[in-house]
Amino acid sequence: NEPLLEIKNLKKYYPIKKGVLSKTVGHVKAVDGLDFSIYPGETISLVGESGCGKSTTGRAIVKLDPPTEGSVLFEGKDMADLSKGELRKIRTQMQIIFQDPYSSLNPRKRIGDLLAEPLLAHKLASKEEVSKKVDQMLETVGLTKFHKGRYPHEFSGGQRQRIGIARALMLNPKLIVCDEPVSALDVSIQAQVLNLLKDLQKEFNLTYLFIAHGLGAVKYISDRIAVMYLGKIVELGKTADIFSKPKHPYTQALLSAYPIPNPHLRNRERIVVEGDVPSPANPPKGCRFHTRCPFAASICKEKEPVLSGDSHTVACHFPLS
Ligand code: SF4
Ligand code: MG
Repeated sequence: NEPLLEIKNLKKYYPIKKGVLSKTVGHVKAVDGLDFSIYPGETISLVGESGCGKSTTGRAIVKLDPPTEGSVLFEGKDMADLSKGELRKIRTQMQIIFQDPYSSLNPRKRIGDLLAEPLLAHKLASKEEVSKKVDQMLETVGLTKFHKGRYPHEFSGGQRQRIGIARALMLNPKLIVCDEPVSALDVSIQAQVLNLLKDLQKEFNLTYLFIAHGLGAVKYISDRIAVMYLGKIVELGKTADIFSKPKHPYTQALLSAYPIPNPHLRNRERIVVEGDVPSPANPPKGCRFHTRCPFAASICKEKEPVLSGDSHTVACHFPLS
């Protein structure tokens, strides 16, 4: 099983500028060396507190924001080596759905035009074909062709996210980055949209990179979960393993924060993490989590733990078992 996407040592730094001359005085290391693969048909989730680099990773993958270092391989091809034409083609195969469907849809355009746009822009079909596809796609996401002439403000939040999903699907993508697609929706609507995403995954053979700030949100849709902290993956494993045998103290803390009944954690000591996330401009030396970790020892302040293990990997000098 070849990966659809391979992410190798991905880094994304943003310069910090100061003074009238805009001198670069440092860098925010938003993403600081990620390695992971995404396999066809799976849903892999990136989870962590805001500022841990998960959205930056998603954007770097779909190339809205090229990486500072490292590489992204799509179906074995390094995206940095592709010609403009090849890149354009591959870009249609990777789409992104944003948290806020309100801001990702142009308010002055009718829904029919918003959906037709990507296909027309890529000159991939005739006007009649596009119109037919728009009708079909609206039905597919639970709307109707009679919605075509309406504007985004005429829809509810959940409907707007359906429109965002329909728009992402217009180009028959292989991968969809879902950047917190339900966080802005009412709880009652969240499950509907998640179920829709699950159904569409089966119907169109989609691969999802799902981004969320908490583990609860991704439990039912993820095959695998990668937990991120300050620009790095600290633990990666199958969803069941992450929930039943979390190895990293930070993962355990994230799980403790959820009121979801978890029989495996019932007798486990609750781990409470105190303090704020340190600045990604100046991450702590050694293990980045040591300033907040209840188990930190002296080695943790000196030596950075590397991600190790087979199918369930963890970056910690004293992984929990
Ligand atoms: Fe905690 Fe040390 Fe493990 Fe880091 S390496 S998570 S500080 S025990
Ligand atoms: Mg984000």
